[in-house]
Amino acid sequence: MPGIGPKSASRLTYFLWRGDGQQPRDLAQALVELKEHTRLCEVCFNITEESPCPVCREPTRSTGLICVVEEPLDVLAIERTREFKGRYHVLHGALSPVEGVGPEDLKVRELIARVKAEPVKEVILATNVSLEARPRPCTSKSRSRLWG
Ligand SMILES: [Zn+2]
Repeated sequence: MPGIGPKSASRLTYFLWRGDGQQPRDLAQALVELKEHTRLCEVCFNITEESPCPVCREPTRSTGLICVVEEPLDVLAIERTREFKGRYHVLHGALSPVEGVGPEDLKVRELIARVKAEPVKEVILATNVSLEARPRPCTSKSRSRLWG
C-alpha cells in the first residue's frame, strides 16, 4: 500500500494481532464499505460518495475556473490551502509515452467536453511536469481522436 513501508506494516500487523478478533473484521468490513460506497464524480472525476461531489455542487465556487490535477489526493492537497475557489478535474494519471499512457487513457476527453459545455474562462494545470510528459507533437490521427 502506498505510504506504508515494512515498519508501518509490522506495527499494524502487531496491533491487529494483539487486539481482539473483532478489530480485523471491523477493518475488513470498513474497507469493503469504502469501496462499495464510493464512486467517481460524474463532473470532475474525483472520488466521492455522491455524484456530483460536494465541490461540484458548491454554488459559491467559480464555474469559470478549473484546476486540472493528476490524482484525487492532489485535490485534497489544494483544498487544504483553502485558497482555491474554483472547481477541479482529475485526470487519473499522467501522460507517459514511455509507459504507453496517452490522452485517451486519462480523463482528457472529458475535460475537453467540460471546457466546451461549461462557461470556463481559465484552466489551471496543476500537474507534475516531467521531461517524459512534456507535450509532443501528436499525429493528425491522434489529434482527431482527441478533439472528436
Ligand atoms: Zn465533482
